[in-house]
Amino acid sequence: MSAIDMPAPTACPAGGPTITSGLGSPKIHDRHRDRLAIVYIRQSTNHQVLEHRESLARQYALRDYAEQLGWPAERILVIDEDLGRSGANSQRSGFQRLLAEVGMAHGGLVLALEASRLCRSNKDWAHLTETCGFWDTLLGDQDGIYDPNDINDRMLLGLKGTMSELELGLMRNRLDRGRQNKAARGEMFQKVPIGYVKRPHGQVALDPDEQVRAVVQLIFSKYTELGSVHQLFRYLIAQKVQMGIRAQEGPNRGQLQWRPPRLPTLFQMLRNPMYAGAYAYGRFRRQRSPGKANPAVKLLPMEQWKVLLRDRLPAYITWEQYLANRERARQNRTCPEGHGAARGGSALLPGLVHCASCGWRMSTQYQHGRNGYYTCTRFRHEPDVPACPGISAALLDQLVEEQLLRALEPAALELSRQAFADVEREQTRLRQHWRQRLERAAYDAERARRQYQAVEPENRLVARTLEQQWEEALRQQRQIQEDHDRFLTSQGARPSAEQYRQIEGLARHLPDVWHAPQTTPQEKKEIVRCLVERVKVTRGRGQIQADVAIHWHGGNVTHHVLHLRAQGYDDMPDRQRLLDRVVHWRGRGCTAEAIAVHLNDEGFKPSRRRGGFTGEIVQELLHLCGLGAESNDPGLLRRHEWRLCDLARELGIDRKRLHAWVQRGWASGRQTPIHKRWLVRADPREVRRLKRLAADIDASPSGRPASKPKPG
Ligand SMILES: [Zn+2]
Repeated sequence: MSAIDMPAPTACPAGGPTITSGLGSPKIHDRHRDRLAIVYIRQSTNHQVLEHRESLARQYALRDYAEQLGWPAERILVIDEDLGRSGANSQRSGFQRLLAEVGMAHGGLVLALEASRLCRSNKDWAHLTETCGFWDTLLGDQDGIYDPNDINDRMLLGLKGTMSELELGLMRNRLDRGRQNKAARGEMFQKVPIGYVKRPHGQVALDPDEQVRAVVQLIFSKYTELGSVHQLFRYLIAQKVQMGIRAQEGPNRGQLQWRPPRLPTLFQMLRNPMYAGAYAYGRFRRQRSPGKANPAVKLLPMEQWKVLLRDRLPAYITWEQYLANRERARQNRTCPEGHGAARGGSALLPGLVHCASCGWRMSTQYQHGRNGYYTCTRFRHEPDVPACPGISAALLDQLVEEQLLRALEPAALELSRQAFADVEREQTRLRQHWRQRLERAAYDAERARRQYQAVEPENRLVARTLEQQWEEALRQQRQIQEDHDRFLTSQGARPSAEQYRQIEGLARHLPDVWHAPQTTPQEKKEIVRCLVERVKVTRGRGQIQADVAIHWHGGNVTHHVLHLRAQGYDDMPDRQRLLDRVVHWRGRGCTAEAIAVHLNDEGFKPSRRRGGFTGEIVQELLHLCGLGAESNDPGLLRRHEWRLCDLARELGIDRKRLHAWVQRGWASGRQTPIHKRWLVRADPREVRRLKRLAADIDASPSGRPASKPKPG
């Protein structure tokens, strides 16, 4: 902005920007006038910039003031980069530039309107006065000129800074309190959501436009039916439903615009209590996190809302429906407490299965993309606790499926009637939506035609614009008509009585429908979710059966026992017979390898592992039977029998030497049945004889006994 735009001081004599207080101030010397006069201009928000033109004009008038103080026009620097930037915003480049100019000893005088306001924080203000004092720069505002090196001025400047901060704090408090009081009365509205309008006196009413209201109603009833915001969104896009949005600000404020729905808008609508007639304030909190410039907006739990007043506003849905929608959204979240929305995997019960022993939801995993398995997710959150046993999805799904089809049998006919009514109702609703769109387009075209015909032919410029508008309206009408035709074709004819009978027949054969290849896993899951609230599975470690409790909607619980496939030896049904055979063959002196061959011959199958038994697997089984290594068997040694190493130690000779003696027949012994290890028989007399033998051999010069030793 240049000085030309600025009113001259004489131009507005009454309350205008004329400032004279500092004229002739003895504090200004030539050494100040040799340097620049810096005029700093600031308004915190763009809103202030637009609304407070007067204050802005006064700020620019400071330039003239500097001229009157004796600065030539070309030596006046105006810094106005910070227009529209709040004092709280630390990235005010203008203020930084001001400090830099002063710091380079360029400034003789810094001028601002209400100088202390230019900082908005006492720290900045102290920094500026300090810098100005150091470089002998004067500070000035509409009240006078201050020398930061003068002790009185310095005190005044400090006071001004403190006062301005205090004033700002008081103002903020007053605004906050006012806002909270208004909110407590349920009258504080910043924006109203789609489907509502704000009246001039601040009351909130339903949108007067019938089509806007119809679309909002469609959104809520369709969400109840589809149960997922993403599916609702896809539905609205597919049906080309547009939402009537009223501009909240700007020149078109209050005017209706038709736009395609956006996903975040739908989420906001579903969690806004206003649609249930409730007034709420303080639902959100700004949350700063390190490393992020902007605070995140967090939705608070309902108990923490500052104000919640029910039945205050016109409603689209009941409070109960609002709570149900919230609960549904919570369940749809993919977190441990929620169900998660129905997705495309083959398992039937993802999100519904809970581990009864710890209460956590079980997650669904797919092995090789096919075999589903429900696992307890507790171990992910509490790694120290051993994981609970999981359960095969195929087995559990089958059980629930059987129970479900049984439960549906009597209801099947009623259900089919219900389904028909639903289809009819939805078609009616969509037809109504289209009728309203067509009516609106026809009305727009008709109005454009009337406007065109009303204009006098001589007024050619206006007539041309109106003609274009009329053509545009006609084009839009044609477009909507074509879309409507497409909609009618896609909807098809209403089902005939014959078709109705067929559908009734199908409902009677619900199992066939259920198993039909056209029924997608997702549809099945939706059906299950309509009826089953949760499935609780209790399964002890190593148990081959699980207790299943199906919690149906409405509070009914049925209990079932599910037999599982063996996962380990603990689970094997013929476990005892297998172990008996292992003990039997071991008793016959078989090695682990030999037992493995016998077991394979007898037709046993190892659990989990493919192929037959091996020596290693039999070793595991031997451990299970308490028949670990043969040498540890407590029943191995008979009376007066020694292990080779033990006897060698007793005699004080090497183990190999004793082994050689046994082999030569100098000592008597036998070999173990399995590993063929030597056991030596030696009663106390025999031990004494063997000791003597060792002594004789050691004493003999030939290293041989005098006579061939005979075991006793
Ligand atoms: Zn668990």
